[in-house]
Amino acid sequence: MSGDAQEAAVDLVVAGAGGGLAGALRAAQAGLSVLVVDPDEQFLRGNNTSMSTAMVPGAGSRWQREAGIEDSPERFVADIAAKTHGTADPALAAALARISAPLVEWLADEAGLPLSLVTDFAYPGHSVHRLHTVEGRHGSTLLRHLYDRVRSAPGIDLLVPARLIDVERGAGGEVTGAVVEDPGGHRETIPTRAVLLATNGYGADRELVARHLPEIAAADYHGGQFSRGDGLRIGLRHGARAAYLDAYQGHAALARRSRTLVGWATIMHGAIMVDRDGRRFGDETTGYSEYAAALAARPEARGWIVLDRRIHDLCLPFTDFRQTVDAGALVWADDLDTLARRTGCDPAALKESIAGQAAQAGGSADRDAFGRTFFEEPLRAPYAAVEVIPALFHTQGGLAVDGDARVLTEDGSPVPGLFASGGAAHGISGHGAGGYLAGNGLLPALGLAWQAATALSHTHTHAERHEHS
Ligand SMILES: Cc1cc2nc3c(=O)[nH]c(=O)nc-3n(C[C@H](O)[C@H](O)[C@H](O)COP(=O)(O)OP(=O)(O)OC[C@H]3O[C@@H](n4cnc5c(N)ncnc54)[C@H](O)[C@@H]3O)c2cc1C
Repeated sequence: MSGDAQEAAVDLVVAGAGGGLAGALRAAQAGLSVLVVDPDEQFLRGNNTSMSTAMVPGAGSRWQREAGIEDSPERFVADIAAKTHGTADPALAAALARISAPLVEWLADEAGLPLSLVTDFAYPGHSVHRLHTVEGRHGSTLLRHLYDRVRSAPGIDLLVPARLIDVERGAGGEVTGAVVEDPGGHRETIPTRAVLLATNGYGADRELVARHLPEIAAADYHGGQFSRGDGLRIGLRHGARAAYLDAYQGHAALARRSRTLVGWATIMHGAIMVDRDGRRFGDETTGYSEYAAALAARPEARGWIVLDRRIHDLCLPFTDFRQTVDAGALVWADDLDTLARRTGCDPAALKESIAGQAAQAGGSADRDAFGRTFFEEPLRAPYAAVEVIPALFHTQGGLAVDGDARVLTEDGSPVPGLFASGGAAHGISGHGAGGYLAGNGLLPALGLAWQAATALSHTHTHAERHEHS
């Protein structure tokens, strides 16, 4: 192991340098000592936070106010309830919605993230513009800013590569140590009074994915390779309850050729998705997550997003989209016969799909066959198409937590000193893939880590007061 391992007890061990870094920074700002451990030397490029599109919701943020957008935690909770058909944990949804605006403001002011509000298109399910992001719209930038702050903050040490493999607990059940292991198998116990499991979910564990998420098990996994379910296993070993293990974020727009993200902004600007044969198969605007399983069910589990020059230009602010273009994953054609030839789609089916889009967007058709109501503008030549496959991005079920990220046991009581965030905790997307709203991966990742640190700093202050009284 390299890094600055400590002999004396630390206040908090954060396992996982993704969203967990928000908790590390918040705890250090409250005067707590923190050790961050991560087994991935490439975590700045390899974990989910770094791979993400960096969209973070904030309901009622100052950017929204400046843009004249009225929003509130209650409105956000209502959007979550609508998208999940009322199946998301209401208490956790309310807690995360409540802190979402303070969180994004803290990320800008205290963590140095150059955030702005996304107003150039609407993500499915959000009734107002409430997603905040960084320049380039990429998680590697978000994580880099967070990491730079962590490195310059007093009171935070990093131990990498080191994997948390267990926690130790005292006679009263409280956390007393974090057991970490280096790649050579050397183990040590770091004395601590709290551990934050920020190890993400189990997307990289094929066996767990097959057991809990059979509908997406054959799809590409496009997330961090260290998301092996460690936090889940550790928590369960200590009597925690698991919740929503069947929940996940899928994505239907992974470019087959370059394995880069095409992005759903294409769709929201008017693109359509057709299957291998050139046929549309649903209302794409319901959401990219559930569309992954829909695409997986089509012949050969592949399809095409069809766009045009206007949509191409509108999507260029996304690093992922630019990388997809640069990788040569788009095929261009001046007319639909050529496009059909280049994609291998049936020409008649492809023409019918494009004609339908044009009729809807141009206002000459009454109703889309799949109920889609929004197509922005008719697609115009030259056309482009990018072949897509379904992907699993991350799992949304995990250890049951409360709004302070405290890990809960079967009887609802917390395991003292044990916290979980992000993919290690249960999320707010209900069951399956359909409840996922853009931003509701990073919100529990950053937000629960932040909440854990806040809760811990309160108990710390209380304990200190007690000691000195
Ligand atoms: C392409 C893509 C785009 C996305 N876009 C968005 C978006 O725009 N908005 C959004 O909200 N969500 C998005 N998501 C989802 C989002 O990335 C995740 O929900 C979120 O980043 C999870 O954060 P995390 O902290 O739980 O996990 P991670 O960021 O993956 O961090 C977990 C860390 O824990 C480490 N670790 C694993 N096991 C151990 C162990 N035993 N001990 C110590 N450390 C360990 C890992 O190495 C890793 O560094 C996207 C996902 C993908 C794949």
